[in-house]
Amino acid sequence: MIKITTSSPEETKNIGYRLGKLLKGGEIICMNGDLGAGKTTLTQSIAEGLEVNDYVTSPTFTIVNEYEGRHKLYHFDVYRIGEIDEMYDLGYEEYFYSDGVTIIEWSSMIEEILPKERLNIEIRKGYSSDNRELIINSFGERYDEIIKELKS
Ligand code: ADP
Ligand code: MG
Repeated sequence: MIKITTSSPEETKNIGYRLGKLLKGGEIICMNGDLGAGKTTLTQSIAEGLEVNDYVTSPTFTIVNEYEGRHKLYHFDVYRIGEIDEMYDLGYEEYFYSDGVTIIEWSSMIEEILPKERLNIEIRKGYSSDNRELIINSFGERYDEIIKELKS
């Protein structure tokens, strides 16, 4: 586990960029935190670390957006999901168990289908408007390794 406090969007983006550079493909990154916490901001910077050139925005009319980069990036936002069947209907396994990187905003809403091995990032708003606490937990060796790298 690693806890990182940031005091600006740029600081959060710096973490995301470093994380994005560490990804080797096939990772699952789960994000939770209130609206406006910074999940999409963090996702955008992870995308930069993955050398995605397109501007990453939250999928609003779809559940998942796909981007080309050093690895494919699958960006899910499951906030508006009604039933878990919607995940089956879009064939989520093709994304989760691929060589691409999967990022899921509001992952706790689909807990029952999340792979055991993954990185969990919780973002909490701090006492001042630009303060955030990132709490990152790893499940599985490759994710332990990522946390080790982030600490160094
Ligand atoms: P979410 O996807 O969690 O709803 P967004 O990333 O869309 O959140 O929005 C986060 C907002 O908070 C952005 O407007 C961003 O500029 C702002 N912000 C302020 N301070 C921070 C910080 N330390 N880290 C991340 N975002 C921050
Ligand atoms: Mg968002």
